[in-house]
Amino acid sequence: MCSHRPPCPTADKPDHHSAVIVSAHPEQGWSLLCNGTIVFEVMSISDASRHL
Ligand SMILES: [Zn+2]
Repeated sequence: MCSHRPPCPTADKPDHHSAVIVSAHPEQGWSLLCNGTIVFEVMSISDASRHL
């Protein structure tokens, strides 16, 4: 899955969020990392709290 050198941390590692972004969706507020982790942007969280 990951072909980076050095290899990115796997999804079960504490630093899994530091893997390389393979698919970014800033308009939706999330990014897919090469280890299969989906990271939600901080901006979308503050965006959502504004609607509460
Ligand atoms: Zn990688």
